Amino acid sequence: MTNPAVRSNASISDNHLDYDAIVIGAGVAGLYQLYKLRNIGMNVRLFEAGTGVGGTWYWNRYPGARFDSESYSYGYSFSKELLDEWDWSEHFASQPEILRYLQHVATKFELTKDIQFSSVVQSASYSEDARSWEIQLQDGSRFKSRFLITGIGLLSQPTLPRIPGIDSFKGQSFHTSRWPHEPVSYEGKRVAVVGTGATGVQTIQEVCKDVGHLTVFQRRPNWCAPLHNAKIDSDEMKEIRAGYEEIFETCNQTAAGFLHTADARSTFEVSEEERYEFWENLYASKGFGIWQGNFKDVLTNPEANKAMSDFVANKIRQRVNDPETAEKLIPNDHGFGTRRVPLETRYYESYNRENVELIDIISTPIQEITPNGIVTSDREFEFDIIIYATGFDAILGSYDKIDIEGVNGCKLKAQWREELSTFLGIQINNFPNLFMILGPHALLGNNPRSIEFNVEWITDLIQHMTALDLTRAEATPEAVASWYQHVLEQGEGLLANQIDSWMTGVNSNLDGRQQRIVARYSGTQSSYRKRANEVAESGYSELNLI
Ligand SMILES: Cc1cc2nc3c(=O)[nH]c(=O)nc-3n(C[C@H](O)[C@H](O)[C@H](O)COP(=O)(O)OP(=O)(O)OC[C@H]3O[C@@H](n4cnc5c(N)ncnc54)[C@H](O)[C@@H]3O)c2cc1C
Repeated sequence: MTNPAVRSNASISDNHLDYDAIVIGAGVAGLYQLYKLRNIGMNVRLFEAGTGVGGTWYWNRYPGARFDSESYSYGYSFSKELLDEWDWSEHFASQPEILRYLQHVATKFELTKDIQFSSVVQSASYSEDARSWEIQLQDGSRFKSRFLITGIGLLSQPTLPRIPGIDSFKGQSFHTSRWPHEPVSYEGKRVAVVGTGATGVQTIQEVCKDVGHLTVFQRRPNWCAPLHNAKIDSDEMKEIRAGYEEIFETCNQTAAGFLHTADARSTFEVSEEERYEFWENLYASKGFGIWQGNFKDVLTNPEANKAMSDFVANKIRQRVNDPETAEKLIPNDHGFGTRRVPLETRYYESYNRENVELIDIISTPIQEITPNGIVTSDREFEFDIIIYATGFDAILGSYDKIDIEGVNGCKLKAQWREELSTFLGIQINNFPNLFMILGPHALLGNNPRSIEFNVEWITDLIQHMTALDLTRAEATPEAVASWYQHVLEQGEGLLANQIDSWMTGVNSNLDGRQQRIVARYSGTQSSYRKRANEVAESGYSELNLI
């Protein structure tokens, strides 16, 4: 039998295809991919589970949801016109404003006409004979295309905690990322928040102002740092607009695409006085500087990390009135910055309010949820509303939800269980013509910066293939192995890879997510871009193109 992969292109027809390309997901990634492919003359269809565009910013409508990236470093950079006409109202915009921005993008570039909403893609299978993908939606309808591009999100599959009786609660209950579109009234009510990660922190500091009583159930505290959000007036917006080129250039050079870059000095290279002055300044400045712009060894050297953690622990002690509560809020199982740092606005002061109580569920575990509330090992609580801020099945979750079948019946989920490997976080061997945006082993951080680069890289490859009448792209096993090795090397020595977090693929609420994995690329924007550009400049020599 001849290998279908080496058949001549003359026998491959487009006649059976519904579209040249199918894109899944209408978030920052999918919207830009749709725009770019349409611009090169392709017939594209985008399928989205939600009823509107926005992805993360469509789903996460919980109170207090906002950026921890500076608004102007997060927005798209590709259109000068868009940059010129859009004003951000705050340095860290809130979810309604971000959603309005993405809706504006969809309207401006007439994207919605090519999007099918309320369409959950359940399966996708590759046909070697036709060199095309067929997707199936939840309603049974099927569509075929040459290329399949996933923009399905790294934090888009919510996870609920595994607590007996969770369905029995008679009040209102929501996962933060499945917040209703109608306003929720929690004024004066007895509210529980389960979880104190980034979304928990944003929710707690907001709802505590209005609720009758708030009980926070914390399994593990995180190292949070002040956001220092501020309004942007028209003069400041003018300055920001004039500096856009520099802003994006900076983001493209820094480690994780943020505006902040590590200080060239090591922690103990400077005097104690200088060190604390530097840290005080970081603590008083906006955004992720304290995480990404710290001394260069804070995230790699355990002693430096311990000193920084002690500094932040003291800040928490200073801000929380009750010493016992303060100690509960100080992490003791990981160092500062080894997990994504939740940025907060008077989060710690929330615990100084009469109406807020913190329950440590390591010492008094939740035993069950009842029709009336939550029962821990030593108390029974009654609630009107329970908010689950329990995070996501990160990075792999949205892929696992789709039954993806490549060549010879090879299933993606099973292949990744054996070894999680990709090429550039974009391609996977055995899955030709499938391209991922922000897939595993991609560079995360200030995500739109990686998204734009990846979308442009994928578009260039597809354009190259179209120009040469090529119909099949698959990374070679050697390319995948060498990228995997590179990903492992880049992660060496990073303290973040030595602890449990969503960034190391651990989620105690899910079976099969207990082992740490290397799930993301920990190199820099420049190292990632250099490698990906070399692949393109070599005529994609590390891909088998037919
Ligand atoms: C609360 C929160 C705050 C965040 N803040 C920041 C921040 O400040 N800075 C930052 O850089 N990043 C932040 N992130 C990460 C954020 O996810 C990314 O910045 C970015 O929005 C990812 O865009 P995306 O298009 O790749 O994925 P998403 O925005 O997650 O969009 C994926 C879309 O795919 C759809 N989808 C998934 N599976 C299917 C399927 N099978 N069928 C059909 N549709 C499907 C989903 O419905 C969703 O709309 C935050 C994430 C969260 C949850």
